[in-house]
Amino acid sequence: MSRARSYQVSAIVLRQRDLGEADRIVILLTRERGKIAAVAKGVKRARSKLAPALQLFTRVRLQLARGRSLEVVTQAQAAAAFPRLRSDVERYACACYAAELADSMIEEGAACEWVFDLVEATLKGLDEGGDMASLVRGFELKLLSGLGYGPELERCVECGAEIGKEAGGFSAADGGVLCARCGRGGAPLSRAALAGLRDLLRLPQEELGGRRLKESVRQELERLMRRFVDYRVDRELRSAAFLPK
Ligand SMILES: [Zn+2]
Repeated sequence: MSRARSYQVSAIVLRQRDLGEADRIVILLTRERGKIAAVAKGVKRARSKLAPALQLFTRVRLQLARGRSLEVVTQAQAAAAFPRLRSDVERYACACYAAELADSMIEEGAACEWVFDLVEATLKGLDEGGDMASLVRGFELKLLSGLGYGPELERCVECGAEIGKEAGGFSAADGGVLCARCGRGGAPLSRAALAGLRDLLRLPQEELGGRRLKESVRQELERLMRRFVDYRVDRELRSAAFLPK
């Protein structure tokens, strides 16, 4: 079967790095083909036609040509620029974190439409001024759970007992909630934080921007998910340090 020499994709620019004087390598999350690295030639020149569409976090319609080692961007048209993500420091930090987490969890080439849709909904929510903590925590929970690495929220990870509205604790190392009997080894988990975790996982990401977590719950979930993500991701996420407190 012959493969077309060029093809179109919908993509989000996750990351970029310079390549020589004028070019850049862009790491793209595409809806059709998963994560792809492509060369954007001449993109650092002032009059590059590709440059505006290939800014970080932009959703873009691209034409790619197969190159010898990397694909080459031949056309790019921005579909949604999400400008606030580049002008608001805190929102930029959240977008960087979401992009880095997705980048670190997704293998190159594996198609995953739902990951693209989740990243897009998160960036859109952040750009529209949605609640940052809800969007970031919802993103972590949905991404990790969808890939099979999410926290167990319904059964004790030690003994398997069903957990109602109240857990005995949470163990990041063991991957989820603990019952009252097994809870001593884990971190405390309030009833409101458990309900928050379940909501953030269950509700569509598009709805999370309009929610607001109670301050104490927000802080509790931040600590808990920070530790949990650390256990699940091999490498250190540099952008995590810049997330708004
Ligand atoms: Zn138990």
